[in-house]
Amino acid sequence: MGRVLAENITADRDLPPYNRVTMDGIAIRHSAFLQGVRAFRIMGTVAAGDTPVDFEETDQCVEIMTGAALPESADSVIRYEDIEIKDGIAGVTDIRLKKGQNVHRQGTDKKQGATVIKSPCYIDAAVISMAASVGRSSLLVRKLPRVVIISTGDELVDIDQQPTDWQIRKSNSYAISASLLQHGIHADSLHIADDPAVTQEKITQCMQQYDVIMLSGGISMGKFDYVPQALGELGVTKLFHKVKQRPGKPFWFGNHQASNTLVFAFPGNPVSCFLCLYRYFLPWLKASLSGDTSPNMPVAALDTAVTFEPPLQYFMQVRLYIGDDSRLMAKPMEGNGSGDFSNLLEANAFMELPAEQSTFSMGEQFKVWPFKPIV
Ligand code: AMP
Ligand code: MG
Repeated sequence: MGRVLAENITADRDLPPYNRVTMDGIAIRHSAFLQGVRAFRIMGTVAAGDTPVDFEETDQCVEIMTGAALPESADSVIRYEDIEIKDGIAGVTDIRLKKGQNVHRQGTDKKQGATVIKSPCYIDAAVISMAASVGRSSLLVRKLPRVVIISTGDELVDIDQQPTDWQIRKSNSYAISASLLQHGIHADSLHIADDPAVTQEKITQCMQQYDVIMLSGGISMGKFDYVPQALGELGVTKLFHKVKQRPGKPFWFGNHQASNTLVFAFPGNPVSCFLCLYRYFLPWLKASLSGDTSPNMPVAALDTAVTFEPPLQYFMQVRLYIGDDSRLMAKPMEGNGSGDFSNLLEANAFMELPAEQSTFSMGEQFKVWPFKPIV
């Protein structure tokens, strides 16, 4: 579940593999019905899984159950609801009957050898259902990246520790790791103190072991923000540093060619880190695995006018809901800035408000990045 399929899956048999009866009743010849036959002698009973029982005469039939294979001698099924059985004769009440009624004909869904699941695609319950029915108990899937989450900061202690008055507990690495778990990635986590030598040493080790390094904190202008310098000294190519956005402006992104490692370094502020995860990392993951590089996110309509003056793209926290007219609506839930992660419990998406605009009217629609299921 949730992995990306890396091979096309073909049908090992026709789907359905035989003329499958879809109602419990009697199997007859439609031509007999057209000729006016309304009483059929029952020549046997066919249950699902049975070898079909044939009959010879036009006024004959077999009782047949849903899922059973239709005999060659029949082409249509009349439901039990439309017959009355007495002394081995099925009398048909006044009905209209089409040729082929209540029969799901062999090969009408897919032909043997046809591709039934195309790669790449995300494996969901419908994919599992199809794979099972064509006899595939194991599937080739795309490899997931090996990911390490590194939190930085001298002020941080672990969950089970009691912080001093001036310390806080780590939360970013747990947030990232929980989100990655939903995508099947079991990331490792480690913490490094604000120390340039340790920062270099730990990142060097990680570059050997992982495909992706995700960092939180230590990338801003602070005196103890050692990450960008360490990455530079280690030969990680900076692809960009800083994005004209709020939150998450200090986001640093690069790659280390020698070890083939990607580095996503997110700001430490929990909301900034969270936004960068949903807006950059997860779309990157999806694009890398499925080849879908243009995630078409939904739009929602603002239910209140908003003003945002700075010339930055504003990822505003919103609560999405389905409006009375079934339109996707967004209620602004701005909270107290990028340190206020309690607000992430109330909101369910970020709304992408363009940098070129500073007033956003009620009813105007903008792209949204949900981080919870909307319905
Ligand atoms: P920094 O980006 O390192 O300057 O950190 C910015 C803010 O985010 C500071 O208030 C940090 O204490 C906080 N912070 C950094 N890392 C984490 C983390 N892993 N969990 C929670 N808060 C963090
Ligand atoms: Mg820090």
